[in-house]
Amino acid sequence: MSISSHWCVICRRSGEELDHLFLHCTMAWQLWASLTRELQWIWVMPKTCEVIFDDASWDFRNSRRNVLWKSCSQSIVWGIWQERNARLFKGTFMNHEELWDGIRLNTAKWLSINKEFKQWGLNDLLNNWQPILEGTLR
Ligand SMILES: [Zn+2]
Repeated sequence: MSISSHWCVICRRSGEELDHLFLHCTMAWQLWASLTRELQWIWVMPKTCEVIFDDASWDFRNSRRNVLWKSCSQSIVWGIWQERNARLFKGTFMNHEELWDGIRLNTAKWLSINKEFKQWGLNDLLNNWQPILEGTLR
């Protein structure tokens, strides 16, 4: 599905198709890689966005892992969309680290209002995902 008839405003190397912008664009790929590296997951990048939001594709048999996956994947998509619009309409630009920091912060805020994560403060929800998922952070 094409979002616009123009080139991708992030990489300028491909058309702005939905799957390109949110999965396969260099910036998107780096963000997904940051998430999987952070959580020590090994995965194969899906071909389409539908897989990302299909609950049946991501049953980790751990409700905290499911909530974290959903929160962060939605935050990545939201962050990419905001960055795309900022570049297109405001002429502003964030690098990967700035974008990833914002995505982590949004994810932590969303986790903080979820019953599965209410026992941790925002700082832990921002910086200690793996220990929280492993149950080693009290
Ligand atoms: Zn691109």
